[in-house]
Amino acid sequence: MNNEVKDLIKQKLDIVDIISEYITLIPAGANYKALSPFRNEKSPSFIVSPELQIYKDFGGDKAGDIFQFIMDIEGVDFREALQILSEKSGIPLTGESSKQSYHENNKKVLMSILEDSARIYHTILSHKTYGDKARMYLYERGLTDELITLFTIGFAPQGYQTLTKKLITKYRPEDIEATGMSIRGKENHIYDRFRGRIMIPIQNILGKVVGFTGRILPEYDDGQMGKYVNSPQTITYDKSKVLFGLAQAKSAIKKQKRVILVEGQMDVIMSHKAGVPEVVAVSGTALTEYHITLLLRYTTQFILAFDNDSAGIAACLRAASLITQKGGVVQVIHISQGKDAADLVRENPELWKQSIDKAEHFIEYYLHHIIATISPEDIPAKNKALKQLLQWIQVINDPIAKNHYIKKLADLLHMPEKDIYSKMEVAESSADISAHIKSSDSPGIKLQKHIIAYLLYKPENHDILILDQSLFTQPILRELFIKIRDYCVKHSSKKLSLSECKHFVSEEEYAILEDLLLPIFYQIEEMHPSEEQTQQTIQENIQLLTTHYQSSVRKALLKKLKEAKQVGDKDTVQDILRKYKSFTNNNT
Ligand code: ATP
Ligand code: MN
Repeated sequence: MNNEVKDLIKQKLDIVDIISEYITLIPAGANYKALSPFRNEKSPSFIVSPELQIYKDFGGDKAGDIFQFIMDIEGVDFREALQILSEKSGIPLTGESSKQSYHENNKKVLMSILEDSARIYHTILSHKTYGDKARMYLYERGLTDELITLFTIGFAPQGYQTLTKKLITKYRPEDIEATGMSIRGKENHIYDRFRGRIMIPIQNILGKVVGFTGRILPEYDDGQMGKYVNSPQTITYDKSKVLFGLAQAKSAIKKQKRVILVEGQMDVIMSHKAGVPEVVAVSGTALTEYHITLLLRYTTQFILAFDNDSAGIAACLRAASLITQKGGVVQVIHISQGKDAADLVRENPELWKQSIDKAEHFIEYYLHHIIATISPEDIPAKNKALKQLLQWIQVINDPIAKNHYIKKLADLLHMPEKDIYSKMEVAESSADISAHIKSSDSPGIKLQKHIIAYLLYKPENHDILILDQSLFTQPILRELFIKIRDYCVKHSSKKLSLSECKHFVSEEEYAILEDLLLPIFYQIEEMHPSEEQTQQTIQENIQLLTTHYQSSVRKALLKKLKEAKQVGDKDTVQDILRKYKSFTNNNT
């Protein structure tokens, strides 16, 4: 089916027109040539043949037809390329069921509402009088008209009907509501969600608006609503999949062979001003595996520039672990506390560029900025750091880099290298043992629940945020821990209500959350413990859980040992004994 459509589209579209939309083609005999859009080159070696309807990048490895070109340049898969070219050619994709096409049509309407909203807000911002204050604010922050245009930035005035009134002349209220741009009030009429805010459209990979983030104009800030308000999750806007700025960044990411991840939309926008366009930000969620997979289409080199507070560091290290596991290489930018990329660029764009140049591999970063702050006497902290580092070093594929970090680690911790190697083996084997530990009636479960409840109670508690997730032996608890932690890492809120969790856990998980954790949570609230007491209880719980976990691992090892002895497998017996010893040494 797709092949038929593919042929029709190829007959209708000319590769020269398609490629010309992206780069300038120069006639060269029967062909065209250009500077490769995929590499930095001085003399053109990118050739397009109108006769064969193909392109070839002679200095690189890319070649193919229009579909291949769209896949290469947009970083999309075949299905998405088919969609893009079907739209360009006007040849519809056949074979969709009627239900699907209703869904697609409805989605089109919603996208059109969002596109119109962006245009309306942008027009208001450009207006001599209505947009004046907002524009001044943006200029003061260092934004330029070019940046405002590049990101279609707009302004939502304070009124309740500015946008809604305009949209309602063209669209059905339920569709407007479904985009999240308007909210239905008590009287059953709809009104603007965003008021008194700088409006920044969130676009998908293709530059289509799927949602908004709105930053309060300081003079309208009454402290009632957040500094930023985001569109809710809708059928067009899936926060776990969208990366802010990717549409504007994707070609630069390919060219520069790296992507810089920052925390805020303003950081992305201002980085463009500094001449560093290969920047994206997640919005309204922590970095997901989907985000990483998406970026891996463009590059394997990631540079993280997160806030230098405890939540930022925790977020950064979590992201680094995830990216490394998926095969990416992670560097970290060190910015002084309380500043972000936008602040640096505003001060002096060179400062931002210099920070990028000084980025370190994240293990190096951890060694320098985190281990360095641990006092040599603080053995538990040292062990914790060591354990965390070993986990990361384990997933490094390059043996030279691996040895390099092990050497450095040995140096910093004043330990012989061979001890570090043996610790690493234990960590590897305990991972698979933990999967077999029966957890149903374990007192560890109770501790796990308590720790999660404390996380809800004190979302900024660093000790809990950096806990090794394998301590949560029951899968559902581990899943809950991960989701709540990720949310807390992103939103440094003072307290997390149970209902807030509804937004990011599944219904089933929420039911369990309510069932298992509510009683403990209320219990804590009722006790109303002091800061100090809370901290102490948290540490006790973590300590107990860690001990409990370790003894389970030991028990599992002993059980294996017994089995091996019974069957007379001497090698395995030796092996387990060695592991057992080393595990005991490392965890006491
Ligand atoms: P600005 O420079 O405009 O003050 P920022 O980017 O420095 O903003 P941070 O407080 O560092 O703001 O927050 C980082 C990011 O987290 C923001 O860019 C925004 O995407 C998100 N964010 C911040 N506050 C909120 C909030 N109250 N609700 C939702 N998201 C928020
Ligand atoms: Mn800022």
